[in-house]
This record gives sequence, C-alpha cells and structure tokens, in this order.
Amino acid sequence: MRLTTAGTVLLLAAVVPAVVVASSSATPAPTGAVTTASVRTTSAFPAAAVLPLAAGPVPTSWEGGHRVPVAPRWWPNGYSHASAAWNPAWPKPVEFSPTKKGRLSGLVIALDPGHDIGNGSHISAINKTYWVGLTKTCNTTGTATNAGYPEATYTFDVVARLRRLLVAQGATVVVTRDRNTTATYGPCVGARGALPSQEKAAFMVQVHGDGGPSTGRGFHVIAPAYYKGYTDDIYAGSAKLAAAMVSGMVSAGLPRSTYLSKTIQVRKDTGAINMSNVPTVTVETLNMRNAADAARAMSAAGRQKVATGLYAGILRYTGR
Ligand SMILES: [Zn+2]
Repeated sequence: MRLTTAGTVLLLAAVVPAVVVASSSATPAPTGAVTTASVRTTSAFPAAAVLPLAAGPVPTSWEGGHRVPVAPRWWPNGYSHASAAWNPAWPKPVEFSPTKKGRLSGLVIALDPGHDIGNGSHISAINKTYWVGLTKTCNTTGTATNAGYPEATYTFDVVARLRRLLVAQGATVVVTRDRNTTATYGPCVGARGALPSQEKAAFMVQVHGDGGPSTGRGFHVIAPAYYKGYTDDIYAGSAKLAAAMVSGMVSAGLPRSTYLSKTIQVRKDTGAINMSNVPTVTVETLNMRNAADAARAMSAAGRQKVATGLYAGILRYTGR
C-alpha cells in the first residue's frame, strides 16, 4: 500500500518536476483524495506576491518571534523508542511572545501550518515512512487551487494572521515551522505532533486547505478517534476543541463543508494528532479546488477572514 502510494508520487514528480501533487492533507481525504494533473507549478506566482511572510528566515526579532531554544525531539522509529533530534533540513519551530496583555494571557498555544513549499522538491525525503500510530509518509506536498496557489503558502499566511490575533490577546504562540521555502521540507508529521507538549502548549490547531471535489466548498474539522496508547489522553479534549472550532468558523461566516456529511470528521489516521499529547485538531479551512473557496484563499481579506474564524474558535475553546 505505502509502496504504491510512494511510487505514484515519485512517478508524478518524475514526469512533471515541482508539480504540486494534490492531497488533502497529511492524510488522504475521507471522501478519497482528488488527484489532478492540471496543477501549475508555483513559479506561476511571483514570490513577492504569494510569499510575503516566507522569503527566507524569519528574523529572530520579527514581531517578537524567537527560535524555540531546545530543539524538540520525536520518535521516528516507534512511539517509545529512542528519540532523534529535529532534522536540520526542516524549518525550525518558532515561538512568539505576547505583544499585549489580554484574555489569553498565560496561555501557550501551538499552531501548525500544514506542509511546506519545499516538500515538492524533496519528494524522496517526504515519502520516507515512519510509525505514527500507523505507517505514514513524513509529509505530503499538499494541494493547490486550480490556479496553482499552493496550500503550503496559504496555511503559512493564515497561521501568521492567526498568530498576530492571539499574541495581541496575551497568548504565547508556538508555530511548528518558521518559513515556507523551497530549501526546506517538513517537518515530518510525527515531529509536528510531538512539539506542543514539549513546548508546554495547552492545545494545537493544525491549519490546512482541503483538496476536495470542486463542486463542494466549505470547512471541516478532523478530530481524533479513541486510540489506546495514542489518543486516549487527548480524545476528550480534542473533541471539545473540534466543536469550538466549528462554532468559531461558523460565527465568522465561513461555510461548513458541503461535500462531507459531517463537519467534524473523527479519524484514526492522522499522524500528528496521534503523536500529540495535548488536545489537537486539524481544520481543513476551505476547499482549494472549489472556485469560490479558491478566491477566498488567494485574497488577503479572505485569509484574514479564515484567521478570524479560527481565532473565534480558539476563544470559544478557552472560554475566555
Ligand atoms: Zn493539507
């Protein structure tokens, strides 16, 4: 199974270098991943236009951000085996201090912008498999809009916007990757999941854009199924977080998924959630293959609206 999947990605990559291979997230979409050959390369968009926050390293003083001082460790060979250091080829996790006191003062919140723009040029590395409650690849390229705007760039920008809202209310925000560049790839999903508890975060929100059927639009939230040894410690908290995120997104005027029967998808196959030790959900914020949602993803105002919905969900979860 995994050899077939990896082989397919490698084949696509060999035919069209740097193409964005459609995939909803780190895991297949529950309705079946939509694969397309029509995605253009990211070079169709000038770097300055789509990577305003992603060109090169984030300065350590950038809006209060600083490198997480101790590189987090994770378990590439099994949940309880010897740990390994954060891979130097990955973006680094970064922590943002509060800019003001507010209703979130004292809270540490982890945010995970899905994928990395460099995944597409590191296919063999991201296709390496690891045990994360199931055998999964390190990461995937993510999806893109039909015009070629990549999910990795979208998620990075939405998380930057969300993080600004949170630190202005007193939160400390840990982000799993500090850049969105072709020189880096990952981090692997297991490391993303291991990060929040190591950095003392209360919970983690993973931000993605789905690659669903073009006829449907809207957001959905992935929450963990009960999985002894993996999610038994975070199952209840994650369910509460998922419900709060749905409520927040709806309150911001963002539509629920029209192509899934349930807005909350309970799954056992998401590696980062399986490896996390704090309540964690994945928000598939919109469907990048749908024209209306793609227009939202590609506009700054649209991404701000998504960030506002996520922010509202976090406020609801914290009850502050
Ligand atoms: Zn994704």
